[in-house]
Amino acid sequence: MTGHLFLKIPGPTAVPESVMRAMARPLINHRGAEFGAFVKGLLPRVQQVFRTASGTPIIFPSSGTGATESAVINVLSPGDAVLAFTIGNFSGGFAEIARRMGVDVTEEKLPWGSGIPADLVHERLAADTGHRFRAVLAIHNETSTGVTTDLKAVRDAMDRAGHPALLLVDTVSGLGSADFRFDEWGIDVAVAGSQKGLLLPPGLGVLCVSDKALAAMERVKTPRAYFDWAPMVENNRKGFFPYTPATGLLFGLEEALNLLFGEGLDNVFARHARLGEGVRRAVNAWGLELVAQNPADYSPVLTAVYTPEGIDADKLIALTESRLNLALGNGLGPLGGRAFRIGHLGWTNEVETLGTLAGVELGLRMMGADIVPGSGVAACQTYLLETA
Ligand SMILES: *Cc1c(COP(=O)(O)O)cnc(C)c1O
Repeated sequence: MTGHLFLKIPGPTAVPESVMRAMARPLINHRGAEFGAFVKGLLPRVQQVFRTASGTPIIFPSSGTGATESAVINVLSPGDAVLAFTIGNFSGGFAEIARRMGVDVTEEKLPWGSGIPADLVHERLAADTGHRFRAVLAIHNETSTGVTTDLKAVRDAMDRAGHPALLLVDTVSGLGSADFRFDEWGIDVAVAGSQKGLLLPPGLGVLCVSDKALAAMERVKTPRAYFDWAPMVENNRKGFFPYTPATGLLFGLEEALNLLFGEGLDNVFARHARLGEGVRRAVNAWGLELVAQNPADYSPVLTAVYTPEGIDADKLIALTESRLNLALGNGLGPLGGRAFRIGHLGWTNEVETLGTLAGVELGLRMMGADIVPGSGVAACQTYLLETA
């Protein structure tokens, strides 16, 4: 296959060249003074990407799922009650991890494509007069459906109910792409990963933890070793880790943060929002349906699209990858074969987005779909011109 692979799955995303170079430097001693000074400089910048002054960043050599598991076992004991909102594959996975750790999960299962209604959060917490729920599990960006949660509204709903539950948030695909404000939104634990908006390969589980969550950790009885936050926080203070960190990825993280802060986080979010709207204009021009049902919840990170009647989304994706060198996301769970996902996150731009849409048009036409070639590209271009 000639040319670059268009990696337009919603993570892992293409890694910028300067980040690749930063990771390619010779390794250094992870117990030495140079590394300690490097980590001490890096952690405050990780706080900055979460937009927190008081939250404690924690980085594991793990996938995002590992970071999620660490959140559950450090702030919840077996038998503790939590309220989880499931709106797709990843929010459902969060609830499942808690269940497997023996947590008593009340799962509010909403249709895939819907958001988390703040009114429902309020209603459920206001009804919990005995304050049984120790935590609310919410997702920032549901990567299976292309839905983003208004976390400020969720926090406000919790406060209006006067409920003391911790707010645990999966922002694996949100951080660095969609607006996220740890302090302002009263988040207690935020879970992220390296391979989505953070512009790195997979391999880092990245968290931010509030003082309230760290205090909760003290009473938690769940057995933990590798994922224990306490030795991590203690070692990090001196710039070190309780075991070997993913040093190469941490060098990459420093450069990725240079890129994000160089562009400016607000500009990064605006770029994602604009590309997302351009993609949705294309979907509309094709006459296809979005998985996300409510415009207020549309994700700036990715767009999930139902294929036309009679077109198998998995076959479409296999075709675009094998014939066009374009990797799209597949439909997850009940969306398997019925929907595909276009990633517009990370180190990307207008031309890549237009190229992706052109590839989707080619693929859909090759599969026999009745769409007008160029219609989606033109609709996106028009929007990009209007907002140039
Ligand atoms: C990708 C993703 C995960 C899982 O992350 P891994 O690194 O694959 O473990 C969890 N939640 C969301 C929202 C994601 O997009």
